Amino acid sequence: MTAHVSVDYGAIEDNMRVLCAHAPTAEVMAVVKADAYGHGLVEAARAARAGGAAWLGTAQPSEALSLRAHGDTGRVLTWLYGPDGPFDALVAAGIDLSVGSLPVLEAILGAVGRAGARARGEHAPRLHVFVDTGLGREGCPPALLPDLLDRLIAARDEGLVRVVGMWSHLAWADQPGHPTIDLQAAAFREALALADTKGIDLEVRHLANSACTLTRPDLHFDLVRPGIAMYGLPPVQDPDGRRFGLRPAMRVATRLALVKPVPAGHGVSYGHEYVTERDTVLGLVPLGYADGVFRAAGGGRGRVAIGGREFPIAGRVCMDQFVVDLGPDATAQAGDEVTLIGADGPSATDWAEAIGTIDYEIVCRFGGLREKEAL
Ligand SMILES: *Cc1c(COP(=O)(O)O)cnc(C)c1O
Repeated sequence: MTAHVSVDYGAIEDNMRVLCAHAPTAEVMAVVKADAYGHGLVEAARAARAGGAAWLGTAQPSEALSLRAHGDTGRVLTWLYGPDGPFDALVAAGIDLSVGSLPVLEAILGAVGRAGARARGEHAPRLHVFVDTGLGREGCPPALLPDLLDRLIAARDEGLVRVVGMWSHLAWADQPGHPTIDLQAAAFREALALADTKGIDLEVRHLANSACTLTRPDLHFDLVRPGIAMYGLPPVQDPDGRRFGLRPAMRVATRLALVKPVPAGHGVSYGHEYVTERDTVLGLVPLGYADGVFRAAGGGRGRVAIGGREFPIAGRVCMDQFVVDLGPDATAQAGDEVTLIGADGPSATDWAEAIGTIDYEIVCRFGGLREKEAL
């Protein structure tokens, strides 16, 4: 085993407690999509439940079903599918479903029809109406909402569905004060008012992702949906400089495969983009872009820590390895630990800043290593 991704599930549990404290008037949905942002779906979900998450949320229906298969019996919402979603299984599993279009509603009603009495009345699927208040991604545009609501009400009145939620998602929550936040909130309130006028009695209204949970308590409504913050990576600055009391859960480390002296003027890695300026010692790190180390982190942008010191990546990142220049006085040995992400080295956010992405992508990518480890 050349790489080790370890996840501190205690940190996820503690972070969930912190987020619950930030949203004392709302319930909390732990967003565990994309294998819990690379942290492991089932284990992260368990930690989130232990920390107080009343809900779990996954984009992929397969992940919602996997949570049930692993014994989670609580409220779970899933949202990303077209009319070909696995609705028979989702309805049977009692998963809360998002609906933002008539074709998806018809497909859900098809599954309800096939399930017969098992999915009627108090056993009918619980639906959350997804309104596109401005993100321009999933959800029903406000102009189509009246029709969708009328169809939902008709199905509800036949006992085929329960309309329990209305929800939306913000485009700019990570830029507190951005004018679209209040515009989206106003559009959301209008949609809620329309549902109310039509006699829909909602259990949960929800809008807030991590950034909104941390910065806009006035927009918590009945339920907040933090993802990235639960993994210890707040997407907004804490004015108190305390990271809102959240701590990163993912650690990525490996061991030096080779340490060797080379003379001055020696090219390093493909294309010799890095050339040693003096006699020095190189360290070979056995992880590359096939493992989640972005190729864009080469050329000194990405850094790793060895023995408490940080070293930039020398030259290009290869498929399964890269090199660091340990300097002429290096004391490191083959087998020494190399921290790619951890409290004793760079953070996922450092990697993101180095290559011009967001830490979400860094943890998702490195999280892929967890599966390989399991092989
Ligand atoms: C991913 C996602 C979230 C969580 O977002 P974070 O920024 O990670 O907190 C919440 N709601 C929806 C609909 C999402 O897709």
